Amino acid sequence: MTSDLTDLIRTIPDFPKPGIQFRDITTLLADGEGLRDLTARLADIARPLDADLIVGIEARGFILGAALALALGKGFVPVRKKGKLPGKTVGIDYVLEYGTDRLELHEGQVPQGARVLLVDDLIATGGTAVAAAQLLREQGASVLMALFAIDLPELGGMAALEAEGIAARGIMT
Ligand code: IMP
Repeated sequence: MTSDLTDLIRTIPDFPKPGIQFRDITTLLADGEGLRDLTARLADIARPLDADLIVGIEARGFILGAALALALGKGFVPVRKKGKLPGKTVGIDYVLEYGTDRLELHEGQVPQGARVLLVDDLIATGGTAVAAAQLLREQGASVLMALFAIDLPELGGMAALEAEGIAARGIMT
């Protein structure tokens, strides 16, 4: 095991706009041992839950979600931003700091009654993950847990998920 995965993450100041400290996981992804260890740690949490499907949020949630799906031998389903999926979609609009956005899923790809795990690289305010979880619930799925590489606890995302009755875990803060 890598002694501290946090050492493989870098913080880029003023991205995408002034004042934002962007936590960049691409340096961890580029490190073979780091990627393997992060995936193993996510899989250790996820395995006992025996989910039917892994759902990843665009875009870095695709990388970690697919790695986790492979580790568990489960299928992977992407939740994408508006207009990116080629087939018929279902979606949810959600409020951002400035304006709104929309998350979409291919219709029928998450079956009624499916037990799913939600994956993203980072949780900040929780707005994105809560919207994705609501969309999955609207399809009749149950969200067993939401998993993140990084939790920024001061921004309240985990609490927002818990207020929705969704268990959540982050590997790093
Ligand atoms: P939230 O909706 O406020 O929780 O923001 C989380 C979403 O924004 C996730 O999809 C993240 O990938 C992205 N995000 C926000 N801040 C960062 C960051 O510092 N690094 C990487 N992704 C971020």
